[in-house]
Amino acid sequence: MSWEWSHTPEAYSNAYDQVHTLSRAELLTILREWAYDDREKRGTLRFKGSQVWTDKRGTKRVRGFRLPNGIRRLPTDVLADLVWQRAEEHRTCSNGGFNAYLCPDGCHTVPFDPVDVDDREEERTA
Ligand SMILES: [Zn+2]
Repeated sequence: MSWEWSHTPEAYSNAYDQVHTLSRAELLTILREWAYDDREKRGTLRFKGSQVWTDKRGTKRVRGFRLPNGIRRLPTDVLADLVWQRAEEHRTCSNGGFNAYLCPDGCHTVPFDPVDVDDREEERTA
């Protein structure tokens, strides 16, 4: 179950900052999930039924997740802005409102709480 966003401007600002700490690989994965969702909603996924296949190198691939042209060449902070833009349009969060959904299914989220730098340090040294 998910909730709609109804948070303070500060919470949105925290979540935005968290998106900008994500790795480039993770941001591209999220944008791929949006690409898949867009194509599914438009009915332009080329293969119905099983979407999973294995390429010549043996890597598992999922049809429809291909990024729109040019996205890979964008700087990481622009990718983060694109992810945030989609999240803002989606306005969905976890039950209880703790984590903002960054992707259509909510498998990628960031908390609305500020990142506690001291906690991070403790995790790293533990
Ligand atoms: Zn996801």
